Amino acid sequence: MRIADYARGVSGEELPDDQSEIIFMGTGTSEGIPRLSCLTNPLKKCEVCSKAAEPGNVNRRLNTSILIRYSSSSGKRHILIDAGKFFYHSALRWFPAYGLRTIDAVVITHSHADAIGGLDDLRDWTNNVQPSIPIYVARRDFEVMKKTHYYLVDTREITPGAAVSALQFNIIHEEPFTVHGLQITPLPVWHGPGYRSLGFRFGDICYISDVSDILEETYPLLKDCEILILDALRPDRSSATHFGLPRALEEVRKIQPKRTLFTGMMHLMDHEKVNNYLMKLMETEGLDAQLSYDGLRILNSQRKLSAHWDLYLPDSLKIEKILVEENRNSRTLLFSREEKSKQREQPGGNIISKRTLSYSKSQEWDLVA
Ligand SMILES: [Zn+2]
Ligand SMILES: [Zn+2]
Repeated sequence: MRIADYARGVSGEELPDDQSEIIFMGTGTSEGIPRLSCLTNPLKKCEVCSKAAEPGNVNRRLNTSILIRYSSSSGKRHILIDAGKFFYHSALRWFPAYGLRTIDAVVITHSHADAIGGLDDLRDWTNNVQPSIPIYVARRDFEVMKKTHYYLVDTREITPGAAVSALQFNIIHEEPFTVHGLQITPLPVWHGPGYRSLGFRFGDICYISDVSDILEETYPLLKDCEILILDALRPDRSSATHFGLPRALEEVRKIQPKRTLFTGMMHLMDHEKVNNYLMKLMETEGLDAQLSYDGLRILNSQRKLSAHWDLYLPDSLKIEKILVEENRNSRTLLFSREEKSKQREQPGGNIISKRTLSYSKSQEWDLVA
C-alpha cells in the first residue's frame, strides 16, 4: 500500500488563507517519462517506462518545474519556476485539479528547452486570464530567449493581429529579488562544466533542479534549509550535467536540510524501489529523503509544516490514516485505523504500528491524509 494515494484525495481542496504551498508540476527529465524509445523497443522491456505508461502512475514524469502558491498581503499568488516543453500538459493535469488559474510570475532557472520551452503556451493565460505575465530571468538566459523566443521578446516581430504570450522580462542577478512580496534568493550552481543554472531559496525551502556542482559561495545560502528539493538524475552515477543519487545524497549529508525531495529523475529511477532504499537511510542514519512525483503538494504554514509523505508499507498493514509526530529529539510515525482527530486526543490509543526516528530539530510535522 502506498500512502501517496491518500495525497491524491486532496485534489482541488481550498486552503486556509495563512497557508502557502508548493506543487510539483513536473519531476522528470527533458524527454519525459515514459520514454517513447522504451515503449517502442521490440527487444527490451523497460520496467519503469512500462509502469509510467499507465495513467496516474508515479513514475510518469514531465519536465521539472514547481509552482509556489504564496499567500501575500495582496492575496494568493502563483509563482511558477520554469515552464518547459511539457508545460501545457503539466498545467492540464494540475491547474484544474488544484483550483489554480492565474500565473502571477515565472522564475527561470536556465534556458534549456525543458525549462523555457513552454513560454509560448502562456498565451492562453495572457489572452484569456490576465493581461501579462512577468518573467524573472538571468541576463545570459534572456540573451538565449532573444534567439529562441524572439517574437515574445520583441513583439514588433509578430504578424499584425496575431496573438502571442504577453511577457514582461525582468533581469535578475545573483542576489535576492522580490516577486509579489516573496523574497527569492538565487542559488548559483554549475549545470555542466562552465554552464550556470540557478536554484532558488524562498523562506526555508531551497530548490535546485539542474546541477552538476554547487559553487562554494552557494553553500552558506543553503544553511538551515527546511526542505531541499534537489536534482537526482539516475540511481547509480552522476552525468556531466546532473547529480546522480549517490552525489545528491552526499550533498544532502553536507547541507543537512531537515527534509529532502529529489526531482529531475530519468527512467532508471523506479519510484518505489528508490524510495524503499531511501527509507532504509532514514532508519539507519535519520536521513529524511524521498523522491518527489508529479502533482506532489507540500503545504506550509508559519508554525506547522504539513506534507504528503510518500511512504511504502506492506499490504498486510491495513492503514487508513497516518500521523507524523515530532518532538525535540524524535519523529514518530503513527499508523492507525482511526480518524486523525481522534488520534490527537488519544495518542497511542489506536495505534497499530509505530516507528520512531531520531531527529535533531524541533518541529511539528503532520501528514495530510
Ligand atoms: Zn525506459
Ligand atoms: Zn538543463
